[in-house]
Amino acid sequence: MATQTLPGLAELQIRNIFCIGRNYVEHAHELKNEVPDQPLVFLKPTSSLIFDGDTIQIPSQSSNVHHEVEMVAAIGKEGKDIPKEDALDYIAGYGIGIDLTARDIQQQAKEKGHPWTVAKGFDTFAPLSSFVSTDKISDPQNIDLQISVNGEVRQSDNTKLMIFPVGELISYLSSIFTLQAGDLIFTGTPKGVSPIASGDTIEATMNNGLVRLSITVEQQ
Ligand code: MG
Repeated sequence: MATQTLPGLAELQIRNIFCIGRNYVEHAHELKNEVPDQPLVFLKPTSSLIFDGDTIQIPSQSSNVHHEVEMVAAIGKEGKDIPKEDALDYIAGYGIGIDLTARDIQQQAKEKGHPWTVAKGFDTFAPLSSFVSTDKISDPQNIDLQISVNGEVRQSDNTKLMIFPVGELISYLSSIFTLQAGDLIFTGTPKGVSPIASGDTIEATMNNGLVRLSITVEQQ
């Protein structure tokens, strides 16, 4: 697979895709999960990326694929053991992503104590918008996120509800992994996740259209 530059911030080659689970209290509760006392981290493969105008392929292995709209931060420079108070300096920009999840496969994995990689990692399971640089975002903890399916709003919330703000996520991740320019961090989804189906049209926006992502859905 060819290396992929980040739409809107073309100087960045996309590298690792870190994701945070259960970072909004009401979303943790809607799936009957406990609220974590430290960030819950998983990864998606770069083969799961698609972009504005592309099509989600629902895999034959799942009959319950959910959308999870999320703010995504793009790392702009390398760092390790980054203090919380410096963490925002490592961000090059922000966009929106959809952390697609095969909820049926994830539920089986949770019951068995298995990893979430399969449930989160199918091809097309990481739709990503174009990104804007940090100067367009005055406060990453005051961003409106919205997703609609066939014109019906399914999730609409603000990043101020995050349990671990993005600076804490960067500090925590960098205590384990060396963060690199082009790494992405999906910062978790607010409440309202629900299934998608073949033929759906999905629109996600950040701050009422500062960033937009439009995609369609097909059965594989
Ligand atoms: Mg998620």
